[in-house]
Amino acid sequence: MSEQIAIDGFEFARSGRVLHGELAVSRLGRLADSLYSNSGRIDYALSGEVDEEGNFLLHLGIGGVLHLRCQRCLGEIEYPLELQASLMLVKDESDLVGIEDEDPDVDSIVVKDKMEILSMIEDEILLDLPFSPRHEACEGKVVRASPFAILKGRV
Ligand SMILES: [Zn+2]
Repeated sequence: MSEQIAIDGFEFARSGRVLHGELAVSRLGRLADSLYSNSGRIDYALSGEVDEEGNFLLHLGIGGVLHLRCQRCLGEIEYPLELQASLMLVKDESDLVGIEDEDPDVDSIVVKDKMEILSMIEDEILLDLPFSPRHEACEGKVVRASPFAILKGRV
């Protein structure tokens, strides 16, 4: 097993750090059930920011291609990943009260320890994946899955 990269999220945001990297899809163990093949790599970019209201934010961008398993024919679906997520860091649950009405594109998370980048990436990809990926028409061939993204309103 290769190294895990963990960051101090608050410090990362405070100092406006930026981190780019790539990961083998095979390391994203929580995706395994959805995958036809765990070949390939994904790219990620993480940047930290403190906004004008003093909120600690992390912005995560992920790109690459996943090979999902069609739930109907068990064939391969090529699923282009291109997602952007913003996380607002809070120190404990009570801070979550009152910020529910904020920007719906920003998720608030309680951060007590170091944050593992690998698991942040898994979380965001799992949120993005179609619940039950299927080809539009199963013919045993690779079909791009962009219709799913359209259905979910992410395009
Ligand atoms: Zn299929």
